[in-house]
Amino acid sequence: MTKNKAKVRRARTVNRTCTGCGKVRNKREMLRIVKTPDGEIMYDLKGKIPGRGAYICYDINCVEIAFKKNRLAKTLKHDISDSFKNDIISITSDIKNKN
Ligand SMILES: [Zn+2]
Repeated sequence: MTKNKAKVRRARTVNRTCTGCGKVRNKREMLRIVKTPDGEIMYDLKGKIPGRGAYICYDINCVEIAFKKNRLAKTLKHDISDSFKNDIISITSDIKNKN
């Protein structure tokens, strides 16, 4: 079997599991949260920050579950601050309002 670049490029749909509800969705429909190699927790609206990523639906319920059950912290192996949680909540509701 020959692997060529065209084949790699065609794989546009990448699915990820939501840290909140556990549903599998296209990662473009989800918010990515990253732990950078420096150990910083950031949200990544463009999907370009390197590091360990976790995905959450743009849904306040998923955000709540991800934080309440500490799932996000476990996935990223890093504590998540309340202020970061608040950022995520406001991003999630902003984006939802635009749709
Ligand atoms: Zn979800």
